[in-house]
Amino acid sequence: MPLPDDALAALAEVVGSGGLRSGEAIPARNRKDASDTPEGLPALLVAPRTTEEVAAVLAICARHALPVVVQGGMTGLAGGATPQAGEVALSLERMTGVEEIDPVARTMTVLAGTPLAVVQEKAAEAGFLYGVDLGARGTCTIGGNVATNAGGVQVLRYGMTRRNVFGLEAVMADGRIVSHLKKVVKNNAGYDWTQLFIGSEGTLGVVTRVLLALQPAVNGTQTALCAAGSVGNALAALNRLEARLGGGLLAFEAMWSEYMKAATEQSGLPVPFAAEPELVLVIEAAMGPSSTGEESFAEALAELAEEGLLDDALIAQSGRDRQRFWAYREANYEFYRDLPPGIHFDVSIPLGSMADAVALLRQRVKARSGTAFPIVFGHLADSNLHLSLHDETGDFSGFAEIVYELVREKQGSISAEHGVGILKRPYLGMSRSEAELALMTSLKRTLDPGNILNRGRILPA
Ligand SMILES: Cc1cc2nc3c(=O)[nH]c(=O)nc-3n(C[C@H](O)[C@H](O)[C@H](O)COP(=O)(O)OP(=O)(O)OC[C@H]3O[C@@H](n4cnc5c(N)ncnc54)[C@H](O)[C@@H]3O)c2cc1C
Repeated sequence: MPLPDDALAALAEVVGSGGLRSGEAIPARNRKDASDTPEGLPALLVAPRTTEEVAAVLAICARHALPVVVQGGMTGLAGGATPQAGEVALSLERMTGVEEIDPVARTMTVLAGTPLAVVQEKAAEAGFLYGVDLGARGTCTIGGNVATNAGGVQVLRYGMTRRNVFGLEAVMADGRIVSHLKKVVKNNAGYDWTQLFIGSEGTLGVVTRVLLALQPAVNGTQTALCAAGSVGNALAALNRLEARLGGGLLAFEAMWSEYMKAATEQSGLPVPFAAEPELVLVIEAAMGPSSTGEESFAEALAELAEEGLLDDALIAQSGRDRQRFWAYREANYEFYRDLPPGIHFDVSIPLGSMADAVALLRQRVKARSGTAFPIVFGHLADSNLHLSLHDETGDFSGFAEIVYELVREKQGSISAEHGVGILKRPYLGMSRSEAELALMTSLKRTLDPGNILNRGRILPA
């Protein structure tokens, strides 16, 4: 459906000719995010430069009832930013930059289109650390991180994006700007609406500016690659380390045996432990500037080995070792390409049910197809499993039901950190009650009565 001429003219007037593209001039990156959704050509690509321009664009779209899809770095894995038929793509790509670092309040004010890696670099240059880190750091944006409440590899220490945001500026579906960018830790003056926007996946408003919390820089980082014979042992080791290292633990990532087989066979990484344990862990802790930090970390791991909670542990002696250890955890980005076709999931399972859930998953997948196998890894400390089911037949029917039934049985979540988007929408009812879905629907109707923003993401269109 072509856009009405008067809407087109009004949009062009707001963003200028440099901010509008249509048809074949729309780059491939704006047609699909990093998920398995099919590519979609938006009716128009609009790239505003300021919050006021975003507001004017949304007011025009609301007036003409034009559906809008919001786009950040396009690294989302739930299909939320992939354009659907007739949608205007509103990209934050021209709204980038760190506006202020306040070293006293320990905050950073950032435009929503700024890549996460830039935020991390600027924080480090100022002697601080930004607490969220994930593999897509070079491309994903702060606005996208806020919209998806992104997690990543340091949630154990710093929490998800939600915990790292002091305040927000956002534009609502009708073009009204709402802003709360106060540098105060405590603020119980009414509803904290900013938290409502975090994790709303662009369905309630467009995030344009973010006030981030900065953390003190860490030093004395120690990294180990460890073998554990069972999930129970790994979780007992986690609890012991949390108690012993006094909040210094940064990451506790787990890779199950099938994952390690793929990482070593497909990605050519050396087999780290001859015994092929059930779990390989990447454990990282900030031990402080003192020279005894290294020793204390080694002692803590040795104790866990003596007690039989860890079967083996390799401690990084150099930055190169650290990179080698993390290479196992990041190998999945590469080895998926060489495995039989697969379907991917990002779920939460309560820690007490984790071992049972993985055992049941293996059984049920095998029962469904003799040629299928699971790859399981993830942020174990956050009860978050990333898993994929592969089958050379390419027939994935029934796989999603196996995974999400298991999630329901174990009272987990169908989306731990990637969001619901379009891909997981049919399964939302498996981790949310009728009452919760009704509440979400009424919030959406109140904030976006014309249903123009990211229509069909999270909730039915
Ligand atoms: C290699 C790789 C590793 C990843 N690792 C992790 C991980 O460890 N943890 C994790 O949580 N995720 C991870 N992801 C997923 C993804 O990076 C995150 O979801 C990220 O937060 C998306 O940011 P983005 O800017 O790319 O958003 P996009 O993909 O552009 O958009 C994601 C969603 O947010 C909406 N949106 C984007 N910008 C805004 C805005 N300014 N205002 C309102 N809505 C907006 C979009 O409409 C869409 O619904 C990974 C992805 C890849 C490809």
